Amino acid sequence: MNIARVLYPVQVLGPGKRLGIWLAGCPRRCRGCSNSELWEKQEQYEIPLDGLMKLLQPILQRADMDGIIITGGDPFFQAEELFLLLKALQSYTEDILVYTGYQMQEISKGTPAMRDCLKYIGVLIDGPYVAEENNGCHLRGSANQKIYYLKPKLQARYEAYMAAGPNRIQNFAVADGIVSVGIHTRNFQKELAEAARKRGVIIGE
Ligand code: SF4
Repeated sequence: MNIARVLYPVQVLGPGKRLGIWLAGCPRRCRGCSNSELWEKQEQYEIPLDGLMKLLQPILQRADMDGIIITGGDPFFQAEELFLLLKALQSYTEDILVYTGYQMQEISKGTPAMRDCLKYIGVLIDGPYVAEENNGCHLRGSANQKIYYLKPKLQARYEAYMAAGPNRIQNFAVADGIVSVGIHTRNFQKELAEAARKRGVIIGE
């Protein structure tokens, strides 16, 4: 499968400390997408499932890991691989939050692999990003996206998380720069470029 990044602990996309997995590849090209660097799959991101699971073990075995988030890119563009990943992860936690640009109706009528993924997902946030509908709604980039509690017992936990405060951003220092995680505001790219410019840093195209 094509995996662009793994981060821990992600604390701004769902309750608790979460293992975050970003799958590469999304031909949807939503205007204003905050992860456009993950639109293309890349050869160097290819990793077999058993190799990935081995790498993830130190995080999966941690007593303080509260859940998992799988995003991208759009994970459902690798539906068969996503299903196998979900199947491998579900024994570690029920709280697996997945983001996709597909709508739930499309997944429900989609390929067998797409439908099978729903068996192991705890919470699904669906729909493409629509910049005009980016209004700060909890956990979602835009208001057209919906939250589905596929494991209903998770609902109270997520509602408490959302009631605790607005969306936040968390920055991770990685080998080749900074990865900014979370639900970004509509103008975040301009605001970031302006803040950087004031500090003498020019962010290129
Ligand atoms: S579906 Fe998600 S990753 Fe794909 S272009 Fe839209 S916002 Fe970006």
